Amino acid sequence: MTSTTIVDDTTLTIHSERSLFDVAVEQFSIAADVIGLADDLRARLSTCQREMTVHFPVKMDDGSVKVFEGHRVQHNRMPGPTKGGIRYHQNVTISEVKALAMFMTWKCAVVGIPYGGAKGGVKVDAKALSEKELENLTRRFTSELMPIIGPDTDIPAPDVNTNAQTMAWLMDTYSMNVGHAVPGVTTGKPIVLGGSEGRNEATGRGVVYAIEEAARDIDLDLYGATVAVQGCGNVGGIAAELIEEIGAKVVAISDSRGGIYNANGLNMKKVMAYKAETGSLAGFNDSEEITSEALLELDCDILIPAALENAITAENAPRVRARIIAEGANGPTSPEADLILHDAGILLLPDIYANAGGVTVSYFEWVQAMQAFPWSEQQVNERLRLIMSKSYAAMRDTSKANNVSFRTGALVRAIERVAEFTRIRGVYP
Ligand code: NAD
Repeated sequence: MTSTTIVDDTTLTIHSERSLFDVAVEQFSIAADVIGLADDLRARLSTCQREMTVHFPVKMDDGSVKVFEGHRVQHNRMPGPTKGGIRYHQNVTISEVKALAMFMTWKCAVVGIPYGGAKGGVKVDAKALSEKELENLTRRFTSELMPIIGPDTDIPAPDVNTNAQTMAWLMDTYSMNVGHAVPGVTTGKPIVLGGSEGRNEATGRGVVYAIEEAARDIDLDLYGATVAVQGCGNVGGIAAELIEEIGAKVVAISDSRGGIYNANGLNMKKVMAYKAETGSLAGFNDSEEITSEALLELDCDILIPAALENAITAENAPRVRARIIAEGANGPTSPEADLILHDAGILLLPDIYANAGGVTVSYFEWVQAMQAFPWSEQQVNERLRLIMSKSYAAMRDTSKANNVSFRTGALVRAIERVAEFTRIRGVYP
């Protein structure tokens, strides 16, 4: 069987017997075995609590009406409101949305945020729609979700092909329906509508904070350390710029059209300006071309996969040479590759920890909206660092105590936390 998953504007076909949801359940089961989780909790936590599929009409610019399919899945509603992005892509499936909702539950628990996980998506080629059509689609989809979203129930955020403007339309539609402004119904909003300082950089910044924790642990001096980054978007581009600021050398970075390499280090400010101007990395001065696949196998200290799901597989994992891998992307490493990297002694910072800076600052945004009291960027960054640092120590200690990888250690900690909520609240009625 072939399953298709997507990131950004790229469709990635995974030739495997398993869907992303199967992989999510597989990873959950490994950690549940370590914990010795009771059967009833296993059943509750390996399924999604609420799955909503809607079909809704949208008025197009030419006067026609098209019907679209959308989903919102809430994996676990025990810890508090659920939280997760909404993506627009032609390959969105309920199975993928379920997996991503489950990952969100674990991610929130790893960093100790009082949310359960959710995810949403609309099956649409967003790039083929005009701005007005996207607004119509967003407003109608939001209306369909009204019964299950809200600042105390489920809080959407941007994801693939959605952005701050999408969240502004969502917030406005929700607010018009309830009769007053509700900034806490979404995060990732424009700052003028109650968005948070530092949210745009939060995921990349969190990746760098995570790397600083790991480097300290293995006595790796980040000053002069070499870094390769797959993906040059919100996560990869910003992580690359920030790690360069603390003295590391970014030797390679790629986007969907290929990558660039310079053994002496690229100047990331210039790289980002060049990409913003030309839309691509190709032809950047002072660099050689490198493919995104070859980049993963570079002899470097730190590798940041920040683009694709399933980028590191059993096939290429034996050739990965980095000392630290920080998963900026969601799900860039297959379960088979995980084992190979673990056996090779590579320190892998799993996605549910490494890229949790985004949801952490989304949580800060929600707190600021609920209190109508904005924080400075410095406060945001300091609190983010504290959370990334404490969560690292907890993940490392759990992993060591159980003699498992950091991914399983992080999952063990997350599942124990959510299981505790679930067990203590009991079964209603
Ligand atoms: P983005 O759209 O801003 O950037 C994605 C980048 O990946 C782009 O530069 C794109 O060209 C590149 N890319 C696509 N296909 C590629 C390929 N084959 N090889 C190399 N590069 C390729 O998206 P983003 O927000 O940076 O998200 C990247 C990953 O991080 C996704 O897995 C996303 O789910 C995850 N993530 C994002 C956030 C966030 O706050 N943005 C938070 C947590 C996780």
